[in-house]
Amino acid sequence: MATAVKSDIKLEPSPNPFEVAQQQLDEAAELLELDSAIHHLLRWPMRELHVTLPVRMDDGSTKIYHGFRVQYNDARGPTKGGIRFHPDETIDTVRALAAWMTWKTAVVDIPLGGAKGGVICNPKELSDGELERLSRAYIRQVGRILGLKKDIPAPDVYTTPQIMAWMADEYAFMKGHNEFGVITGKPLALGGSAGRGDATARGGLYCLREAGKLLDIKLDGATTAIQGYGNAGSFAHKLGVELLGLTVVAVSDSRGGIYNKGGLEYDAVFAHKQKTGSVVEFPGSEPITNEALLELDVTISIPAALESVITERNANKISAKFLVELANGPTTPEADKILYEAGCYVIPDFLCNAGGVTVSYFEMVQNSYNYYWTEQLVHERLDEKMTSAFHVVHDTAQEHKVHNRLAAYLVAVSKVAEAVKLRGWVS
Ligand code: GLU
Repeated sequence: MATAVKSDIKLEPSPNPFEVAQQQLDEAAELLELDSAIHHLLRWPMRELHVTLPVRMDDGSTKIYHGFRVQYNDARGPTKGGIRFHPDETIDTVRALAAWMTWKTAVVDIPLGGAKGGVICNPKELSDGELERLSRAYIRQVGRILGLKKDIPAPDVYTTPQIMAWMADEYAFMKGHNEFGVITGKPLALGGSAGRGDATARGGLYCLREAGKLLDIKLDGATTAIQGYGNAGSFAHKLGVELLGLTVVAVSDSRGGIYNKGGLEYDAVFAHKQKTGSVVEFPGSEPITNEALLELDVTISIPAALESVITERNANKISAKFLVELANGPTTPEADKILYEAGCYVIPDFLCNAGGVTVSYFEMVQNSYNYYWTEQLVHERLDEKMTSAFHVVHDTAQEHKVHNRLAAYLVAVSKVAEAVKLRGWVS
């Protein structure tokens, strides 16, 4: 007998991230006096696939999951972008993230387009076996539109190198041979790149280092708050201390945050999170909410979790001198204006967190040559890419007297628009 099925496809969140992404593009298009057909084309994904995935659970039942892959624009090369496993995933979130990947690969000038994938699920409630079967089911459905010359996935929120390994294996079965370069962020033993693990945080910190020099603000000992303790946030803590000497006074994850004005030691916090599953209740710290963490009186604030956490409601309460956006889409356009007027130096998301996809690109190149670089070489090449992109965006902002996000859009959109035009997609 059929039983009623509760819908697990979520309504769009507010603010809608895709409307935010379109609004950001519209502003850049106006300043660039972009051809209206190109503008219209760039407001929408070229292609999207919606998939329904039956997955056998450990108790013998079958659960149905929904997933997406959005290929936003491939004018500059094959599309590239991560896959998120998140209970609040929506098609518009994935569209926004795919658009931001398009601008991200353009701003750091790597020969790729933008894409994103997502599955509505809560990986924290799944066993390893269930997670593996879900990952394989996703690739069985989406694999037909992937390829080294078509679209190359990677990890994102709540997906890991192990998940990439299962996906690469499933894809190899579909093709009848290994094609490691089609999925990046793999473990080292399966063709992963040295330096991919911490690349997102490292790239953002290279930008912060440059911003510190330009603004003549000493970063050694600068107080720092980090929202989110996944791959980007936890490595920002580790490397922020190691590379720049930051004093990290607050960190958080989805369960809450911790604060210690004398500084939080990375090794101890990380070990606590490994043991308990969260940073909360770290010995010697005070609890702090995720909202209050962003409003702390610190020099550097690092949103490294989800989108739309800085809006017109709290932007005027942010007192940090630098906003280092390791998350995708943490700040809404209304908040951008408030922060710019208040003199906060924003290192915008698709520039700041481009280190991940840059080393993913290095991984693809190494997979193609089947010849691998040292970690030091990866760091040098990443530094070169991030530093040069940072200065181009900073100079563009100064020249046009606009905030850094709009400047990053001006740089990225011009490159994608040029490719669209050269290919003859619009006359
Ligand atoms: N998910 C990461 C991002 O948002 C990395 C994407 C990739 O490596 O392709 O940039």
